[in-house]
Amino acid sequence: MKFATRAIHAGYERDATTHAVMPPIYQTSIFSYDHLGDEQPFCYSRSGNPTRAALEANVAALEGMKYGLAFGSGMAAIDSVLRAMLKPGDEIIAVADCYGGAYRLLTRLYQPSGVIVTFADLASDPGQLNALISERTRLVWLESPTNPLLNIVDLERVASICRARGVPTAIDNTFASPYLQSPRDFGIDIIVHSATKYLGGHSDVLLGVACVDDDALFQQMKLVQNSAGAVAGPQDSFLVLRGIKTLHLRMQRHEENAGRIAEWLQGQPAVEKVIYPGLASHPQHALARRQMRGFGGIVTIYLRDNSRAAAARVADRLQLFALGESLGGVESIVNHSATMSHGSMPAEVKAACGIREGMLRLSIGIEDADDLIDDLTRALAD
Ligand SMILES: *Cc1c(COP(=O)(O)O)cnc(C)c1O
Repeated sequence: MKFATRAIHAGYERDATTHAVMPPIYQTSIFSYDHLGDEQPFCYSRSGNPTRAALEANVAALEGMKYGLAFGSGMAAIDSVLRAMLKPGDEIIAVADCYGGAYRLLTRLYQPSGVIVTFADLASDPGQLNALISERTRLVWLESPTNPLLNIVDLERVASICRARGVPTAIDNTFASPYLQSPRDFGIDIIVHSATKYLGGHSDVLLGVACVDDDALFQQMKLVQNSAGAVAGPQDSFLVLRGIKTLHLRMQRHEENAGRIAEWLQGQPAVEKVIYPGLASHPQHALARRQMRGFGGIVTIYLRDNSRAAAARVADRLQLFALGESLGGVESIVNHSATMSHGSMPAEVKAACGIREGMLRLSIGIEDADDLIDDLTRALAD
């Protein structure tokens, strides 16, 4: 089945008794047994819940993976993958400009507990993995496009280096969404989403999903999910399932609007640089074209005046763009990454990544692009 059909149908067989078209919200903690010792698919909602199971199967189908596991947030999904893969003394090699929350989790929780955390610029130089991987390396953590600088990592190259060395790879596929990028096709082993963003798509729910193909890896992830218990609730699972039904339509419009706005921003005197993988000026434009089915809905800009005051002035003057942390909703959002999404990164790390004070990350919504351009015109005026 093609993507749009999978988005709408995968993971849910119409309920046998009621024929409900939408998966019911099974708002229950327990499922009783008829007889002591019965085998049944659900017994307690931490171990499994039918609404959550529908979502897990749906996202797995979108990623072309066998198994999905849903968690209470994107960070809970990331943490569960790290827990399943790493113990003290093990090493993780992570893409240098990863999501601020992932950076904080790795440096503030995992590093102090004895996990060796190595950051590397895997977008500009994936080949360095050959030298970096040691017998301690247990996981390579990727993001592509990265947040907020939209660097593209060559997934096929990284996966082939890691496979040759027996090191599993994981990717945070939040920015592309499964509609625009299928990491499994390139040999990536674990795919994680903050479903809070494009999968949910309406800024009304927090949820995370991890997908895997390998049976043993799934058992390990399932053990973490059931033992640590950071599961997604049935209401939230329902909201994400509902969001996913329009994922393909929304992504098409996000992409169309973002492409047009990125082009337009390039001609604005207040803007020094526009970063968008769909622009020919993006250093990895050709790779993005090969590896993705589109360039996504996020556009990052460097203002000519590289000061926090200049960024604040633009952000404050925007009216349609909400100033906020998140992205991927139907509405447009502007984020000052240096103080907001990546506020937990040390200044020197931000500088090395290229996260500047005069930088704004725009999550382009699905409003009318003319109105968004009018809003940006007013905000960028002298
Ligand atoms: C938001 C985000 C996360 C964290 O997800 P939450 O649902 O907020 O916990 C992880 N990775 C990326 C790329 C994100 O944008």
